[in-house]
Amino acid sequence: MVILDPALDPLVDLSRRLGAPAMEAALLGEGNTSVREGGAMRVKASGAVLGEATDADFVRVELDAALALISDPDAGDAEVDAFFSAIAEVEGRRPSVEALLHVVIYAETDAAVIAHSHPTSVNAILCSRSAELLVDGALFPDQIVVLGARPLLVPYIDPGIRLAREARTLLRAHIAEHGIPRVIYLRNHGMFALGATPGQVLGATAMAQKCAKAIIGAQAVGGVEFMPAEEVARIDSRPDEKYRRALLAAAEGDAR
Ligand SMILES: [Zn+2]
Repeated sequence: MVILDPALDPLVDLSRRLGAPAMEAALLGEGNTSVREGGAMRVKASGAVLGEATDADFVRVELDAALALISDPDAGDAEVDAFFSAIAEVEGRRPSVEALLHVVIYAETDAAVIAHSHPTSVNAILCSRSAELLVDGALFPDQIVVLGARPLLVPYIDPGIRLAREARTLLRAHIAEHGIPRVIYLRNHGMFALGATPGQVLGATAMAQKCAKAIIGAQAVGGVEFMPAEEVARIDSRPDEKYRRALLAAAEGDAR
């Protein structure tokens, strides 16, 4: 369980932990975090360093206004630029270029917190010919408990409004078939963890990194051997595992 610092804004604390060198998830200005706040979100400003985040590194974005932009078929880079500039006039800074994908995730799911990062080992697989190994099966039970049985894998798409639109289409199809994913992997790019609490998304990022390392290790000693599909389904639906997940979420809620 991740114990968060109660003295800090939970979003700032999450950002610093996600950007801590030991996580190997974000360098320099990489990655971004956000929380849902009613009909808006607070998201990392463009260029801010996660590991050194302060309250001033986040900007408020109205979800409906951003969704109208994403859904406007005539909107392109110039319209996004104007939208972000208007936010900067009020908030003092522009949102991260990836903010539009956060907007899509909040619109399509019940996520309360999102962490986007580029974990080194996860990216080793996402930048390989074997990216499906992250989503085609499960290696061990805790992977399923923390990351769910069905993460989503998105092909490489130019970050920004195109990625937001195309990821929305893929996310909707995935939710209709498998339910809301806890993790979205982006080929040649990184991952999004979505959850109810900062601790959950931080834990999911760490577990994804651990899975990626296990996959790389297994490939080096003869190849990945996934758990049998019926065992994966059993873990995913076991009452005691649901209880464990609920406990985990409650404990993280208390810690904030
Ligand atoms: Zn990214």
